[in-house]
Amino acid sequence: MPSTNDLYDELLGHWRKATLLASCASQLSWDEQTYLPPGGAAHRAEQLSLLAGMVHERLTSPRLGELLAELEQHGDLGEPDGPRRANVREGRRRYDRSTRLPTRLVEEISRVTSLAQHSWVEARKNSRFETFRPWLERIIALKREEAAALGHGQGVPYDALLDDYEPGAKTAEIAQVFAGLRKDLVPLVQAIRNSSTRPEVSILSRRYPRDAQNSFARAAAAAIGFRFDEGRLDESPHPFCTGIGPGDCRLTTRYDERHFPGAFFGVLHEAGHGIYEQGLDRTAFGSPIGDAASLGIHESQSRMWENFVGRSRAFWTHFYPQAQGAFPEALHGVGRDDFYAAVNDVRPSFIRVEADEVTYNLHIMIRFELEQRLIAGDLAPADVPTAWNAAYTESLGITPPNDAQGCLQDIHWSGGLLGYFPTYALGNMYAAQMFEAARRTLGDLDALFAKGEFTPLREWLNVNVHRFGRQFVPSRLIERITGAPLSHRPLVSHLKAKFESIYRL
Ligand code: ZN
Repeated sequence: MPSTNDLYDELLGHWRKATLLASCASQLSWDEQTYLPPGGAAHRAEQLSLLAGMVHERLTSPRLGELLAELEQHGDLGEPDGPRRANVREGRRRYDRSTRLPTRLVEEISRVTSLAQHSWVEARKNSRFETFRPWLERIIALKREEAAALGHGQGVPYDALLDDYEPGAKTAEIAQVFAGLRKDLVPLVQAIRNSSTRPEVSILSRRYPRDAQNSFARAAAAAIGFRFDEGRLDESPHPFCTGIGPGDCRLTTRYDERHFPGAFFGVLHEAGHGIYEQGLDRTAFGSPIGDAASLGIHESQSRMWENFVGRSRAFWTHFYPQAQGAFPEALHGVGRDDFYAAVNDVRPSFIRVEADEVTYNLHIMIRFELEQRLIAGDLAPADVPTAWNAAYTESLGITPPNDAQGCLQDIHWSGGLLGYFPTYALGNMYAAQMFEAARRTLGDLDALFAKGEFTPLREWLNVNVHRFGRQFVPSRLIERITGAPLSHRPLVSHLKAKFESIYRL
């Protein structure tokens, strides 16, 4: 009978090959979104579909099932929280998810979502929900089927979809935390609306030359700890970060010469994701726990550098003189505090990706609630525009004038990514809770940022978050780091302290 070590090594060897294959696909999709000539799109789709099939085959192989079962029954896996047990737990989770879905369903979802995305682009362009409606109906039907195939224990079907992005998270728990957050956010948004203080945002739409934006953003990304000897920054229509593997992490952004915050905070955001990828334990690459913990934890890293650091007064104490050097015309005669207030302007808006730090979470809650109703069968896809607009009117006090600025704005549903949205708001809450914990250990973070010292925070994140990869599920990780379960309170305190000062509330 083979020893635990032999079985364990075979498991890791098997997983490593699947991960290497998947990383080839990541590299090809990075290229697809940055440099691929349009004529190569069809060939690239074939390459990617071949690789996806090969990865799926490895992750569903009967041998993998045998190895997991053997290790679970007879293996000596060491301490409960240790990496060996975590690799078997995470391997099991992924294996079960992959094998529970019939191949027919996987193929159907892939085919329908790839066609649906074209229809969504068209629908959004013409602001015509009717174009997209039949596709949304098919996607919701398929995702309901997927949730049923995956199973969800004592929970609700939406749990099964959520688990793909936030392992172990439960709909009911998230709903409870969101309810607390909403209760505190709504009056804050209202108070800001009633304030007579208005940041002068027009300074952000003066001319910011593209090359100067590029060098300034690069300098800031490097200063917070993104390593350019192990990473790149390129341009793409939709900014993203992809970790190809150890020593190779790619960021992208897009430049608008008449809108400073887009590229700059976009780069800080993606660099935050990149710093996480660069902080993963290299020796764990290719094992089930070698990846980032979850989308929510990933987003906590990007949001921390973008908002908690990048939009802080202390950050601009250090960077504003450099900004004035980089953009002498645009920032001539503009005071640092006016600039700081402008990059922190809060106002209810229709478009999620352009939303400020305060109202952003309300956009997420709206989507989270609609998705649950769609998956539960309580909301017909045809009624989405009405439900969407009613929710915006209720939560944000504004009614989208059309579906392009309403329910057609996000790509997620057309791609079948239901269960993904809540991770954005979870990320904001995780970030706030971690930031409080970091401050308890490191002391006055603002004093450090004002001197341009970002290394202590980056190293703290390396040690407490990054190096563990998926060793702990997100709920366990956050408790370990902060000593408490996820709560909306740290985010609310952060937002209140910051915006009560900016808006003199
Ligand atoms: Zn992000």
